[in-house]
Amino acid sequence: MTLLLSLKAVAFDVDRNGFYSPSQCDFVWPRGVVERQCDTCNPREFDPGCHCGIYSSPNPEILTEYAKFSNTVYVLLNLYGWIDLWTGPADISDTFVIRSWGAKIIGVLATTADPKPRKLPAQRQLSAILGVDYYGVDLMSWLQVKEMITITWENHKTLLDGHSPFKKEPWEIEYIKGDTHAK
Ligand SMILES: [Zn+2]
Repeated sequence: MTLLLSLKAVAFDVDRNGFYSPSQCDFVWPRGVVERQCDTCNPREFDPGCHCGIYSSPNPEILTEYAKFSNTVYVLLNLYGWIDLWTGPADISDTFVIRSWGAKIIGVLATTADPKPRKLPAQRQLSAILGVDYYGVDLMSWLQVKEMITITWENHKTLLDGHSPFKKEPWEIEYIKGDTHAK
């Protein structure tokens, strides 16, 4: 299996027993591969103008706007099918956004993405542990996840136009501190 890894910010809902995307609260991630839902695109590509697909980024700073709930954690995704890659917003330089046909949660970050990774605040710890249990995946440190993402991007250099996922060390940018997101 050829991995291509990325990150997503998700929150754990105890009542529904699963992760949901803060931007799409009614969708709870199943175990296994999530496929795009689209009635308009051709079966084997993204049509120009259609925004369907699973959105993710290797760069935590891109995800902070989706990480503001106190039960939010980052999950490691493996991407499936075809992808689109583009650079992040101009105010967050040297970052990437990917959309893919499919994705599967394969890990949960157990720490923050700081240079010296810290423990997650208590409510995030609980979300991480519940997620690990439900999805049957491992708790991982940011340094471990970052290395895994880097290796998989190197393995897909042609597909990704030679881009490396981390042009800038993530800790050069401020993001999650406690339960609020930066700026
Ligand atoms: Zn579509």
